[in-house]
Amino acid sequence: EKQGIKPHVAVLPSVGMGHLIPLLELGKRLALHHGFRVTLLLITTNTPPSAAQHQLLCSPDIPSDLHILKLPPVDVDQVTSHDMLIMTRLCVITEHSLIGSLKSVLVALGGLGQTRALVTDFFSTQAFDICNELSIPAYLFCTTCIAFSAFALYLPKLDSDVVEGEFIDLPEPIEVPGCSPVRTEDLLGQVRNRKSDEYKWFYFHVSRMPLASGILVNSWEELEPVSLKAIKENPYFKHIPTPPVYPVGPLIKQQETLSRVDVECLEWLDKQPPDSVLFVALGSGGTLSLEQQNELAMGLELSQQRFIWVVRHPTDVTASGTFFVDSVDMDDPRGYLPEGFLSRTQGVGLVVPSWGSQVAILGHPSTGGFLSHCGWNSSLESIAHGVPIITWPLYAEQRMNATMLVDDIGVALKLEKGAGGQEIARVVRMVMEGEQGQVIRNRAKQLKQSAAKAVDIMNGSSHHSLSFVSNLWKTTYI
Ligand code: UDP
Repeated sequence: EKQGIKPHVAVLPSVGMGHLIPLLELGKRLALHHGFRVTLLLITTNTPPSAAQHQLLCSPDIPSDLHILKLPPVDVDQVTSHDMLIMTRLCVITEHSLIGSLKSVLVALGGLGQTRALVTDFFSTQAFDICNELSIPAYLFCTTCIAFSAFALYLPKLDSDVVEGEFIDLPEPIEVPGCSPVRTEDLLGQVRNRKSDEYKWFYFHVSRMPLASGILVNSWEELEPVSLKAIKENPYFKHIPTPPVYPVGPLIKQQETLSRVDVECLEWLDKQPPDSVLFVALGSGGTLSLEQQNELAMGLELSQQRFIWVVRHPTDVTASGTFFVDSVDMDDPRGYLPEGFLSRTQGVGLVVPSWGSQVAILGHPSTGGFLSHCGWNSSLESIAHGVPIITWPLYAEQRMNATMLVDDIGVALKLEKGAGGQEIARVVRMVMEGEQGQVIRNRAKQLKQSAAKAVDIMNGSSHHSLSFVSNLWKTTYI
């Protein structure tokens, strides 16, 4: 190694903010605390990036040793069709990008010897083959929980055991060895129809998990001890064979670049009592139907609790309506919220169109609850700030996350599917004012400490895991 030059690693997120945000955090930590030069390889398309993505990548806390390299743009209209569902679309765009350019980019970055490892997430496993050709160790970064990683590692076995029919029709919950059983009603959309393209893509990627040299997971030992023990010790996982699993989380956004609306929001929060405001947001892609949106508005109003609500144009077509929307929807919410809602809730509630500074809001002492779609990043951000959750899962693995947050982790209360305004108001009050709310708030506050301890650079378990992997990368090819 040349003197003074730090070792290099590449980080490759699939399309979508839910992948980019945690992999960027991983990149920052590798650059700041583990002595690497990091290149984040950014998949781009012929449509301009969203304002939120642009803001994220211009954030002032990106260290000088982290370089963002844009892969050549994929022409979305050429490679996708309008009837493709979300995961198929995501996987197709990602595949085109990687097949088209990853090898030459890695070669240009110096290939083996220069790049000590490449880290990617679930939906870019084509990178494993390209890394293999170039003898670069490839690692998987699981942007969701350990329990889901276990489910994913188990899927090929489930697929071969269930000879006919669909998993959702099985009479019993799915017993992932050593883990909490997965209720069939919680199964993600991608595994509900085994003949669908969604399933084929999902199956393709998860069946390739064993090809990774290691699996980093955005979670930590104390949060998911049972699933971690299962993957490490259960004979099933020993048999498949499972790459070593390293919990390195929670890796969540630390700082937000604030817009004028964000600053107003935080100033409003400054004036509210501690733990008194419910934050309502459904991730980067989540959208509601008009009917659901009306019920939620009614519920918030009836609850008489303070709130900040990130609202989006309702749509009946899909629950992930903004996942691929590249421009910020700045429609005036008065156009789609119930008549008079804004004036009736004035002073009690704030409505933010399209995108809010979620981490800054969750970190504010006045925020005391989070009505969330339970995407894993949102779940981690809530827990790491000690904020209890009301679950409103929409798509992907969110229903599984929601059940785990309620039953296993104990930081959330569930809103039943299709809950109306009255029921929403009841659960909101229960979390913000009720005894059950106090129980999950205490648990969230306890886990906040546990989260901070896990990533502490002095002695945290997750910091230790990442140091361990970093040392492997640094010492393998000298
Ligand atoms: N997010 C945000 N503001 C919003 C909505 C989402 O900052 O108004 C961020 C949120 O903090 C999280 C990410 O976008 O880091 C969403 O990731 P998650 O895994 O929760 O859900 P996904 O968007 O992948 O469904």
